[in-house]
Amino acid sequence: MAEQADWTIDDAERVYGVQRWGAGYFEIGANGNLKITPDLSNKNMRIDFQSVIDEIKQEGIQFPVVVRFHDILRSQVAALNKTFINTIEEAQYQGKYMGVYPVKVNQMREVVEEIVDAGAPFNYGLEAGSKAELITVMAYNTNIDSLTILNGYKDAEFMRLALLGRKLGRKMIVVIEKYSELSLLINAAKQLDVMPIIGLRSKMTVKGRGKWESSGGDRAKFGLTTSEMICAARYLESEGMGECLKLLHFHIGSQLTDIRAVKEAISEGGRIYAEMHRMGFKLEYVDVGGGLGIDYDGSKSTNDSSRNYTMEEYVADVVYGMREVCDLENVPHPTLVSESGRAITAHHSCVVAQVVGEIRANSAELPTDKLPTDHILLNNIRELAESVDSQNNLQEIFNDASQWKEQAIGAFKLRVISLEELGKIETLYWQIMVKLQHRLKDAEFVPEELQELDYNLSSQYLCNFSVFQSAADTWAIDQVLPVVPISRMNEKPTVNCSLVDITCDSDGKLDQFVVDHGISDVLPMPPLKKGEDYYLGLFLTGAYQDVMGDMHNLFGRLNEVHIFGDDDDPEDFYIEEVVKGSSVQDVLSIMQYNPDAMAQSMKRMIDQHISSGAMKPREAVKWTDFYEDCLKGYTYLKTS
Ligand SMILES: *Cc1c(COP(=O)(O)O)cnc(C)c1O
Repeated sequence: MAEQADWTIDDAERVYGVQRWGAGYFEIGANGNLKITPDLSNKNMRIDFQSVIDEIKQEGIQFPVVVRFHDILRSQVAALNKTFINTIEEAQYQGKYMGVYPVKVNQMREVVEEIVDAGAPFNYGLEAGSKAELITVMAYNTNIDSLTILNGYKDAEFMRLALLGRKLGRKMIVVIEKYSELSLLINAAKQLDVMPIIGLRSKMTVKGRGKWESSGGDRAKFGLTTSEMICAARYLESEGMGECLKLLHFHIGSQLTDIRAVKEAISEGGRIYAEMHRMGFKLEYVDVGGGLGIDYDGSKSTNDSSRNYTMEEYVADVVYGMREVCDLENVPHPTLVSESGRAITAHHSCVVAQVVGEIRANSAELPTDKLPTDHILLNNIRELAESVDSQNNLQEIFNDASQWKEQAIGAFKLRVISLEELGKIETLYWQIMVKLQHRLKDAEFVPEELQELDYNLSSQYLCNFSVFQSAADTWAIDQVLPVVPISRMNEKPTVNCSLVDITCDSDGKLDQFVVDHGISDVLPMPPLKKGEDYYLGLFLTGAYQDVMGDMHNLFGRLNEVHIFGDDDDPEDFYIEEVVKGSSVQDVLSIMQYNPDAMAQSMKRMIDQHISSGAMKPREAVKWTDFYEDCLKGYTYLKTS
């Protein structure tokens, strides 16, 4: 391995940028494997990802697998709360922080339970945005001192559920998103004779920047305009419920890429709060919504997949910004609420998929030795292939080769050349492209057309997963996610490849990667070795992606393993729980099929072959069992 001498772990770090997006949790170990430090308060606990994979295999769990690190969830909950607590103390801010986790970002029961548990010392609460989520958070937010914030569109039943929470003494805050919800709430409250706690969501004029910027402004889907806010407050007062109005809410978008939007939102929101106060509405809480971004591409920039600030800077802008407005206007500092979801959950889970093959443009070559009967097109392109290294005009070589290949296709259609000759011309064409690519490496100037050569010649690594299930945001909104091999990063990655999934949809691919401080359409990977199981991970998938996957091609949910760090364990971890992914019969049932009836139907067909003597009973039983086993099995490729 002569090439390895000039390759170090630092080089791997430069190419994959693991520490830049890893937020202290991920790094490349000296052995070339990905390492995880899941608990930032205990750096001694370090998990080698390859040993997690080995254990998953030992347990007989099939890939692809979602791997969840519960300690990362806990660390993020603690980090957000402690940052607010420390900043509030440092700023001598008079209010408190009472955060809530918005369950829509990841509603998995285990995730919600872990967050509630880790948040208990901070009275960290939950947020719901739909009736089903409300029903969930009512049962799971068991801490009586924490808040439950209710956003989203609501009906009378929603209001009655929220009021049931009030009857049980819980701090449930109904946030009015739309003016007409107010009378629904007032009527229900009078009927049930309970005092609600009410919040108003402001539409805000400031817009977030980034993919979600339409969450704010005049055309925003949610929230009240200035005049609606004032009318709502007066309406409540006239109904004798002015006291119930306690919270101002705004949310200007998710993944805010530019800290300036946060500053602007705080000063606008602060002004609204202060003015409402002076009008006699003594609000106690200001809820700044979500939006705290994640650095998916590690660039610390205003790219859509990054952000130009840290969690500390975000919190400082919220706390100091609110203090400044309140002090200027001489109103009390409100209790601060935030609804960060992405920042809490993104890091804790990843998808591990096996690379099951390589697709190359020129993987099978025909012998191209000269025959006396060869057509002139074939002779021309062969001569060109032989002379590439002695010619200087690379663009001309490219033009000639491309032109002859095109002419050859025309000639084939006109029955001038045979299929075999066309195949040979194709072989020679790709040989020329490979030679050109080598020569371009040393060239000072690369003509535009030839710049795509690297991509056209790159391999595709076929991975046993579905983009639609496991990287839905990548497919839908071009979300860039870090993709990194789990092992062998101590070897020079000599293959440039894009990744394709196993759905039969040409959109089922990944061709945007965080590489070498930028975004690249190919990912450098080590060459595949015969007989070796090789895995890669899609990271930072814990927010939204995790729960948004769809059933395209009937690939369902993934098997999951839940990892807990454990200092006393030789490998520093144990698998606490395995959650089975969808079986074929699970996904079929969702689509209204009846798997039992299908098995019976197959059995009937097989039985007919026994009756006719075409199949022996012993063989027939085997085939019947096989079909039933496949129904019960995993939807993804079985690779071992
Ligand atoms: C989606 C949403 C959030 C979560 O936003 P993140 O950017 O993921 O933190 C918070 N509040 C509301 C109202 C939302 O709609």
